[in-house]
Amino acid sequence: MTHRLCELSSAPGSAAVPALDPMPPGVHPKVLRDELVAAAEWVSQYLSTLPADAVSRRMSAQRRARLREAPLPRAGAELGEVLDFVREEIAPFPTGNGHPAFFAWVNSPPAPAGIIAELLAGAINATCGMGENALMDIERGTVRTLADLTGLPDTTGGVLTSGGSMANLLALATARTWFLTRRGSGDGPAYDRDHARLTLYYSAQAHMSVARAAACIGLPAHRLRPIPTDDNDRLEPAALGAAVTADLDAGLLPFCTVTTLGTTATGAVDPLDAVTDLCRRTGMWHHADGAWGGLGAAVPALAPLYRGVGNIDSLTVDPHKTLSVPVGCGALLVPDPEHLHTAFAHRASYLTAGEPDALPWLSHATIELTRPGTRALALWATLHHLGRAGVTTLIEYYLTLADQLRDKITAHPRLELVAGGPWPVACFRIAHPDGDADDLHARVAHRVQAGGRAYLATVSVQGCTVLRACLCNYRTTTDDLDLLIREVLRAADTDDRRPHSANEQSTHRQ
Ligand SMILES: *Cc1c(COP(=O)(O)O)cnc(C)c1O
Repeated sequence: MTHRLCELSSAPGSAAVPALDPMPPGVHPKVLRDELVAAAEWVSQYLSTLPADAVSRRMSAQRRARLREAPLPRAGAELGEVLDFVREEIAPFPTGNGHPAFFAWVNSPPAPAGIIAELLAGAINATCGMGENALMDIERGTVRTLADLTGLPDTTGGVLTSGGSMANLLALATARTWFLTRRGSGDGPAYDRDHARLTLYYSAQAHMSVARAAACIGLPAHRLRPIPTDDNDRLEPAALGAAVTADLDAGLLPFCTVTTLGTTATGAVDPLDAVTDLCRRTGMWHHADGAWGGLGAAVPALAPLYRGVGNIDSLTVDPHKTLSVPVGCGALLVPDPEHLHTAFAHRASYLTAGEPDALPWLSHATIELTRPGTRALALWATLHHLGRAGVTTLIEYYLTLADQLRDKITAHPRLELVAGGPWPVACFRIAHPDGDADDLHARVAHRVQAGGRAYLATVSVQGCTVLRACLCNYRTTTDDLDLLIREVLRAADTDDRRPHSANEQSTHRQ
């Protein structure tokens, strides 16, 4: 790229500052336009041909090292190299979650409206932290829409986050501040005395981000209480009650219980009302982690399980999982948003709202200050493209696919369904395996992944490693379910013929 030195106009008497034209990183408008058009054409072609390509492809060690170690050249490159680089070095090696035969984890493909919105919002580059701009109101509006879809009350406020993990962290920090402030132990010697006794409860099936968030707010592992679950992987309210009573008797301070709406492993929904009752009686905060299944109230078939969701204290939802908003878009919804502001509104002289009647800045409800407007616009665009009916239809589609997959597994003589539901997931195993079933399932998943035609992962259910297929891709069809089953059986057949050498075992255990 060539740059021309020019003189900036300057105030009389002061020396002119030499500048480059265009000043990097700027480019000539015609160059920018051509590159945007080329990028847009590539995106639409990439998305349309993606299902015909391998789900994922292994990168050579040299390729990966080249990316990690690439030094920055002294001279800047042409703008067009961005697209060339993505086309040649990134796109051929996807994680796989855009592909209809990808069933691992809870990773959706991006919704088209979200892709367009991210590009547009990137150009506007508004921060949804301080100051006021239209995207801040879009964020407030999408939070309201999510509250409405999830069945929370009209008073609900909240904030978008990078994902469910961050929303859970904000929730625990809010619960802690709420609990200590109410006891008058927000600071001073009372804080030292009380903080060390804070005790947190969650189902043994809770996502690991809950325990990690607890560690981040300063709770040691011995103040965490994973509560046993029933045969359907739902938290046992009686076991929760017993644990809380025992801790109260021991002089500890139960401050919060986290339920899960759509457990990551098997898609279970914890009982809400029983936990809220206990929380009210014992002065605890009830946070529900609905990163995957928080939107169940919007689906008539699931709504009965969500009765009582309007009475909880906070809810995590992850539109980048259930709604295909491009990553990262999560949200924390709080029926009484004042609690969020109490926890996070720290003042500074360089951050003051202009108008006396200004709404609280969104940075007063989270730990991020400069926050991307891309989150708000991509969520808004995806929701508006779907409409209320589309949200329900999309989730119902996943539920139907999951029913089909579970039926196919149950009907197959060589497969056994282990768990799954009501959220759209199937945990299954190979029937009558020779030898160690845990190792077999790990090898089968690994072979399916390496084959490039489908992709699934393993999970631990009741202490056993089993195969897990999750439905969260709007491009997946019944044909992809059949393909997945074929690939699993093919991988198991390869295993039957494999020499049972100690060597191969150890490479898979790494
Ligand atoms: C995925 C998930 C999370 C974490 O969300 P991220 O967006 O990955 O940070 C938390 N809880 C549950 C139940 C999840 O499924």
